[in-house]
Amino acid sequence: MSRRRRAECAFDALREVIPAPETELEYQDHWQLLVAVILSAQCTDARVNQVTPSLFERFPTVHDMAKVSPEDVFPLIQSISYPNNKSKHLVGSANLLVDEYEGEVPQTVDELVRLPGVGRKTAQVVASVAFNVPAFAVDTHVFRVANRLGLVTEKANTPDKVERQIKRLLPPEEWGEAHHLLILHGRYTCTARSPECGICVASACCVYKEALDRLPAPMPGLLPSKGKYYCATRKHYFDEPDRVTDRRGVDQISCPKCGSMNVFLSKTGETTKQVKDFRV
Ligand code: SF4
Repeated sequence: MSRRRRAECAFDALREVIPAPETELEYQDHWQLLVAVILSAQCTDARVNQVTPSLFERFPTVHDMAKVSPEDVFPLIQSISYPNNKSKHLVGSANLLVDEYEGEVPQTVDELVRLPGVGRKTAQVVASVAFNVPAFAVDTHVFRVANRLGLVTEKANTPDKVERQIKRLLPPEEWGEAHHLLILHGRYTCTARSPECGICVASACCVYKEALDRLPAPMPGLLPSKGKYYCATRKHYFDEPDRVTDRRGVDQISCPKCGSMNVFLSKTGETTKQVKDFRV
């Protein structure tokens, strides 16, 4: 299946179960959206939504935030990751917006990245959500799910490369929707530690699931008393495995005698082979 076909298949399936793909951050205007997105770096949206009501009540507008110091903001966001830096970024951004943009949030990514605490990812989210500017931000969920589904090539090993490849694959008017579909799918189904492939609507077009399905079936009847591992190539048990890196760059357990990766856990009969994953 080509990447284009995979993308059609995956996004069609995801649209069925995620009819309203949009940010889960809560906000009332562009400034509050910017604040919420800055706070959400390395933090969950749920946690951000817990602190923003009292933050916005105390400092409802960009002008209110521009009048105070980071020390005034800190107590209200201290349950969020990196509260020190984020307090400085919020106050710094408010001052720059008041001084240079009459308190309005600018619409372009190039202008947004001038604000303290606003990197390319944050800028793209704000531009896309607030102003419908075609943008495709790659966070940890988007990176992982795009790779697992096979929407990008194996060379897409950085967020920038994933962004470029997805942008070439989809028309600009679909970038924002695709971003939210991949985030929500990654947050609730294709999670980092335990993707729920068994119930996933996109499993028919997923490269990761195909690789899982190709793994050897468990071997019944192995004898753990003879050794922790069983090499099905040389047909012997052993306790101290070797490790090799396979051609996809995945660290695998191998037989110390023959180097085979055709190894099973004696206790459960399961293969020790690992499928390439994309957790970052
Ligand atoms: S099949 Fe599994 S790995 Fe693939 S997208 Fe679904 S949950 Fe993720």
